[in-house]
Amino acid sequence: MRPGFSAAQVVSVGLAIAHLPFVNALAPRTEIADSYDFVIVGGGQAGLVIGGRLSQALKNHTVLVLEAGGNGDAYRERIDTPAYSYFDSLWTTPLNWAYYTVPQPNAADREIEWPRGKVLGGSSAINGLYLTRPGEIEINAWRDLLGDMDGAENWEWDSFFAAMKKSENFTAPSSDVAKTGDIEWDASDHGTQGPIHASYPGYMFEQVGQWVQSLANVGVAISNQMYNGEPWGAGVSTSTINPTNWTRSYSRTGYLDPLPDLGNYDVLANAQVTRLIFDTSNKNNLTATGVEYTPDGGNTTKTVKVNKEVILSAGAVGSPAILMHSGVGPKDVLSSAGVDLLSELPGVGQHLQDHFSVTVTWDTNQETSGSIYYDNGSQKNDTLYLSYIDDGVAYVNSTGLYGTNVSSTQQSILAAMDQYAPNTTYDQGVVAGYKAIYNSTATKIFTSPIGQVEILFMNSDANGDIGITAALQHPYSHGRIYINSSNPMDYPIIDPNYFANPSDWDILLHGVKLARLVGEADPLKSTLTNETSPGAAVQSDDDLLQWIREAAGTEFHPSSSCAMLPRDQGGVVDANLRVYGLANVRVADSSVPPTALSTHLMASTYGVAELAAEIISKFYNPSTATAPLLSSSTNATKTANSTASASSSKKTNGSNTNGTPSSLHIFTSLLFVVAVMFSSL
Ligand SMILES: Cc1cc2nc3c(=O)[nH]c(=O)nc-3n(C[C@H](O)[C@H](O)[C@H](O)COP(=O)(O)OP(=O)(O)OC[C@H]3O[C@@H](n4cnc5c(N)ncnc54)[C@H](O)[C@@H]3O)c2cc1C
Repeated sequence: MRPGFSAAQVVSVGLAIAHLPFVNALAPRTEIADSYDFVIVGGGQAGLVIGGRLSQALKNHTVLVLEAGGNGDAYRERIDTPAYSYFDSLWTTPLNWAYYTVPQPNAADREIEWPRGKVLGGSSAINGLYLTRPGEIEINAWRDLLGDMDGAENWEWDSFFAAMKKSENFTAPSSDVAKTGDIEWDASDHGTQGPIHASYPGYMFEQVGQWVQSLANVGVAISNQMYNGEPWGAGVSTSTINPTNWTRSYSRTGYLDPLPDLGNYDVLANAQVTRLIFDTSNKNNLTATGVEYTPDGGNTTKTVKVNKEVILSAGAVGSPAILMHSGVGPKDVLSSAGVDLLSELPGVGQHLQDHFSVTVTWDTNQETSGSIYYDNGSQKNDTLYLSYIDDGVAYVNSTGLYGTNVSSTQQSILAAMDQYAPNTTYDQGVVAGYKAIYNSTATKIFTSPIGQVEILFMNSDANGDIGITAALQHPYSHGRIYINSSNPMDYPIIDPNYFANPSDWDILLHGVKLARLVGEADPLKSTLTNETSPGAAVQSDDDLLQWIREAAGTEFHPSSSCAMLPRDQGGVVDANLRVYGLANVRVADSSVPPTALSTHLMASTYGVAELAAEIISKFYNPSTATAPLLSSSTNATKTANSTASASSSKKTNGSNTNGTPSSLHIFTSLLFVVAVMFSSL
């Protein structure tokens, strides 16, 4: 290669000249080696972070990611365009697992839709792009639940804060957008070297600025400190938008596409893991020797061998389901599903917590993001307009909801604890874990400034309505994920147990009343003309509660189904993310935090995944701190290239016996061809 030309430049010239097939350095593979040191199950938000980091930090180890969904390339414009997460949602595509809950008795017996991403990038590819953070108090409450467990210090605020910052690359809003949206921020709270862009849309609506002011007028203070561990008050959140090209920044664009190929990392899409295979010679400490997966919807299965570890990153639904199908979980569940019990772990799937939410709507006299789109406004195809995503948020604490009644409400929450302990387990350890989480939430979080309810501004509705959503952040009703079949292709059963505990509906009822107050406060008031849902006729607490039961849905934030807790409290993983009773399996994703967090879950999931990569890297190479990935400043150009090259990866085939994929040979050969071209110019 001539000095002065980078590999990327040479390759693109070569492509232009010769139109040769080219496989991007890390294009998802179609075939893989027989064995890998680390097999990561799930190429979603967390899985791609861990795969990227481990492959770079442990260069003499091989890493494989198996993802059930496709690479998403056929849907790339819909993934990339922020506003399409509302207007051209991926929910209707194969990129969504399209789960439903079982009927919820306290929510009008409804089966409630539970979308989850099924694609490289997982839910970070199909979500609403809000990038908010949990608070110091709740992260330290999590750490306290771990007692003196080895590794508990990983989950203290300082460490968790650093991990979240490590993932992000912050860009302030333009001065016009900041002025219109009344956006305040403190750049020192953000990371600037990480792979995931944290920024703001390139287009803003006056009503977002009015939102912040209306909250201030009902007593919810405006804050520019929501990213430093004090995430309460009102503000405009950052979004995972790459401001250099106004596209979605997600785990694929941040942690996969820009990576240099070191020859030790493969990502296989369309590979649904069916179970882990164990050496059971030590019954108390099983060793995973392989991972079974299906490339064709269950018709056939293949197995890849594991030399060192399996890391489950299949999300809050997928990770517990895979453990259960592998014979690890509650013995009653496995027995009735017809799965042989290999390692009893009663907490698998338990402690499930989700943010239940409901939206009050109004007609408005303003142009909204929704009205522009659905009325074919002149901006409809404008890139800046299409970068707009809802981002007005507020986290309201118990004083904001209950005023002088915080203490008496706390007493009634605590008094209800025993009555609403889970009756879906035979194990008193799971019940003890429920009480530990409950007690921690009621005593350390409820009376703190941490938000009990999130209030959100929505202006992307199809009929041009404005919505104000209220979402319960710390549910006292815990549910569970379980299986009722031995066929891993059958969906797991999702029972979030919404509203079982009246404390939850009381908190959300207070949140809904506050949402109404915000809509009736200046300056928003003058722009909202008529409440359309639930409407003026619904006023009494009973009527409002009935409406909530009929209308509420998930805020898409399930967590804690493989909770990090002591084993005798129904814990699934320890503080080093290791599954109890298994020698070499960890879980690292949104299923791990033992308590629901008062935030959208992306930032905390990036934090979990970054910390997981550090813990594992240091275990195998104590002298190596995880090196920074490529800065996300390089992502924009790389992303554009990767779409084309990832699809050409379908031509990839074969792998050699030492685990180096043959695509690398294609890459090397191509460089050689191009180098010859250059030398002859
Ligand atoms: C519609 C929606 C909107 C949301 N909005 C926001 C938002 O605006 N802001 C925010 O912060 N959070 C939001 N969230 C939540 C957030 O995106 C998730 O909590 C987070 O991305 C979860 O990350 P994860 O790594 O745990 O799981 P995921 O990102 O879901 O990854 C799990 C991956 O594992 C794969 N998988 C599952 N089972 C298997 C198997 N058997 N074999 C192989 N692979 C498997 C899945 O296909 C998926 O790719 C939203 C979520 C959804 C669904």
